[in-house]
Amino acid sequence: MSISELPFYANALDIPALWEEFPPPPIYFKGVARMDHSGLAALQARRFMQQVERAWQVPFYQRHWGRAGLKPGDIRGIEDISIIPPFSVADLRESIELMPPFGDYMGYDPKSDPPMPLVMQTSGGTTGIPRPMLYSPRDREVVNIMGARRLYAHGVRPHDLVQVTHSLGLSNAGLSTRESLWKYTGAVPVMTGAGSATPTRRQIELMKAWKVKVLIGFPAYLRHMALVARDEMGIDPRTMNVRFLSTHLGTEDRGVLEDLWGAKVYDTYGANEAGMIAADCEEQNGMHVYEDAHFVEVVDLESGQAVPEGENGTVFVTCLFKHLAPMIRFNINDISAFVPGDCPCGCTHRRLAGIFGRSDNMVKLRGVNVYPDAIGSVIGDVIETTGEYVCVVDLVDGRDEMTVLVESVREEAPNNQSGQAALELRFKEALNVKVTAKIVARGALDQMTGLSKTSKIKRLIDNRKKG
Ligand SMILES: [Zn+2]
Repeated sequence: MSISELPFYANALDIPALWEEFPPPPIYFKGVARMDHSGLAALQARRFMQQVERAWQVPFYQRHWGRAGLKPGDIRGIEDISIIPPFSVADLRESIELMPPFGDYMGYDPKSDPPMPLVMQTSGGTTGIPRPMLYSPRDREVVNIMGARRLYAHGVRPHDLVQVTHSLGLSNAGLSTRESLWKYTGAVPVMTGAGSATPTRRQIELMKAWKVKVLIGFPAYLRHMALVARDEMGIDPRTMNVRFLSTHLGTEDRGVLEDLWGAKVYDTYGANEAGMIAADCEEQNGMHVYEDAHFVEVVDLESGQAVPEGENGTVFVTCLFKHLAPMIRFNINDISAFVPGDCPCGCTHRRLAGIFGRSDNMVKLRGVNVYPDAIGSVIGDVIETTGEYVCVVDLVDGRDEMTVLVESVREEAPNNQSGQAALELRFKEALNVKVTAKIVARGALDQMTGLSKTSKIKRLIDNRKKG
């Protein structure tokens, strides 16, 4: 066997050809990002049909689409997308149960098919065994390029030291960011990981000593870092000259984080199965979808139809580049909306307005649909808080009751009756249902949310499901 036949990464890709297909930054921002709508639509239509063809080779889609009565040839173009049944994480879990440990959605068996250099990462799942995802060299490289576009759009440049506070391990966010930084930006990744890998005080010391310019992580942890610096170490985060923060805001408050660090905060949207899907440009006015690599729909789940621009719906993503585990109409269960109109930055790709909550994190409370995530963006209006909160749902005398525990910035539990009453009023407005608010001491929720240990924060504890 010659060297060129071995399953080496360097043998697996024609890199210049791949860069033609999916240009890395800054080339992308001068070309594909400014493509006119009809050119972009034609590109998407062509790549979509390649994905459909590939999906018909994958047992998961044969089964899932077959159940809906679809046969090869029924999907003739991207205009037929609405006849394709979406799938969600529940379907992926079912696939894993049928064919452990990787499920039958990869279209590849790493134990018996011809070997190739693979990367495995998982969802950041907090319950049960996380969902594995295998990336072929090409899939991974496209994911790296999308991640690099996000970093460039936010302002990462050569020589920057970029501190990455995502967990390093099975979950994808940390290592994927490292690959994008290292391969495509000229910046230097500083991989401190989450608080369990490098304690928060040490993270601050390193930032200061090495003059880190950019911070990447989840908002709750970036907030926690700022508070530790300010209140425990006597270092005002605003004096640390962080140029900007790049995060996944979800429903968290951008303003609180910007005030703490005295720096801009840019939003991103991605998924382990799809890679980086969309990210803010400098306008901070919606996240541009990388539309040469993803076709995104915002759908009304009840009618199954796309909603008009500006209206809320559930995000479905279709990847336009994948070989292992094609993703066609993946219902990510996030609520968003397309921002109407063009962006002043000149990029023609559509923008997602942000993520307003998760359709599957919804709880029914006395018949009302409640999105606990919606609380994150309103608590800062009412009291001085660390921004940490957790919703606890219990069955009390046959009636659903939700208590929202909110952390004060103070070390001792304040007896703040008027603050609690004001919070309850604000929550009633945000959630349309009456809940109880309780202000607790700073740090009191660490164990419940997992803040100091992991980067995936828990906001809902539903005790009705136990026994
Ligand atoms: Zn823009």
